[in-house]
Amino acid sequence: MATINITNLRKEFGSDGEQIVAVNDFNLTIEDGEFLVFVGPSGCGKTTTLRCIAGLEDVTEGSIEFDGEEVTHQRARERDVAMVFQNYALYPHMTVRKNIGFPLRLSTKQSTADIDDQVEQVAELLGIEPLLEQKPKELSGGQQQRVALGRAIIRDPELFLMDEPLSNLDAKLRSTMRTELQELQQELGVTTAYVTHDQTEAMAMGDRIAVLNGGELQQVGTASDVYRSPTNEFVASFIGSPSINLFSVDVKGDTLSGPGGFEYVLEDLSLVEGMDQVRVGIRPEDLYLTSDGSIPGEVTVVEEMGNENFLYANMGEVDLTARIESEIHPVEGMTVMFGFDEEDLYIFNPATKEALKTKTSDTGVDYDQYLQAGQ
Ligand code: ADP
Ligand code: MG
Repeated sequence: MATINITNLRKEFGSDGEQIVAVNDFNLTIEDGEFLVFVGPSGCGKTTTLRCIAGLEDVTEGSIEFDGEEVTHQRARERDVAMVFQNYALYPHMTVRKNIGFPLRLSTKQSTADIDDQVEQVAELLGIEPLLEQKPKELSGGQQQRVALGRAIIRDPELFLMDEPLSNLDAKLRSTMRTELQELQQELGVTTAYVTHDQTEAMAMGDRIAVLNGGELQQVGTASDVYRSPTNEFVASFIGSPSINLFSVDVKGDTLSGPGGFEYVLEDLSLVEGMDQVRVGIRPEDLYLTSDGSIPGEVTVVEEMGNENFLYANMGEVDLTARIESEIHPVEGMTVMFGFDEEDLYIFNPATKEALKTKTSDTGVDYDQYLQAGQ
């Protein structure tokens, strides 16, 4: 188990002229035993950061420490790290037993019997004992991914690094494997850095989530932190599905006025002090239909999801998305009014894109009301 400290990490690719800065000024501590998820769009530097931690890339600047010991210039095999990739990278000619035992045969002098014992324990943990004598091509995608995990677990490393390990699985299996992986990580207690481009997966799995964009760390926090209190417009728009509605409005006195007849009188004027214009954000689930709302919208599409409806509407040039009750079916072409509560409103500085206001609604829950009487 290890605490990982990453300080001022920078990674450039290419030689003079064609420099690509894949990771820039990256600072992060991954706590001992933590499940930390790196999330961000394709090309934002997730894989490169992970490979720097693993020792598979020479870093351009900065340092990496495992439990206070600097490893920046140690090679991969000197670091006590096991990596799991999207494409499994199993040896096709070896059985599952041989594949899982491979790291031990390579790096220790243990007897075949000892290695077999450990392979069987790991296979039991992953529920793949019946497959031990089979070859990878005889296995389903999910089974292959379990074998790849087994090969990482058997090394009993200080740190797991996983790069989109579930991306090749179908949606249903992916969600089962998410839960399994989380349970497994909790059971083993091994510090884990996990990469995904899928914000839903990140939200579901991470103890904390590190949001990256353009090689730079935008924010680190719990799912609730990045959803409720994004540091900037990028995080607000990347986290949450469907995405937050974002548009520019003019500030006139205490009134925000925007495209297509948007008018909203702020209760708390201090939020936009000194600004002529701001960007506002409202999450689809925070819009509701009401005759005295401040957002007129012409309905374009209603998607029925069964438990709720997604309502798409135009407010002038701006496309809006709202999540509404499944019972409500406005028809295409109807002009409706949306309302929202100021505590759910996000406001961003249009120049810096930094958040001026995020959700302030209370999340304090009194759990007593859910417990069986007398507990
Ligand atoms: P992600 O995993 O988030 O999709 P990557 O870390 O793979 O992103 O890539 C970050 C940036 O670095 C991209 O612009 C990518 O093209 C570039 N990059 C990654 N690996 C190399 C490499 N070996 N040589 C040159 N450029 C690279
Ligand atoms: Mg990648």
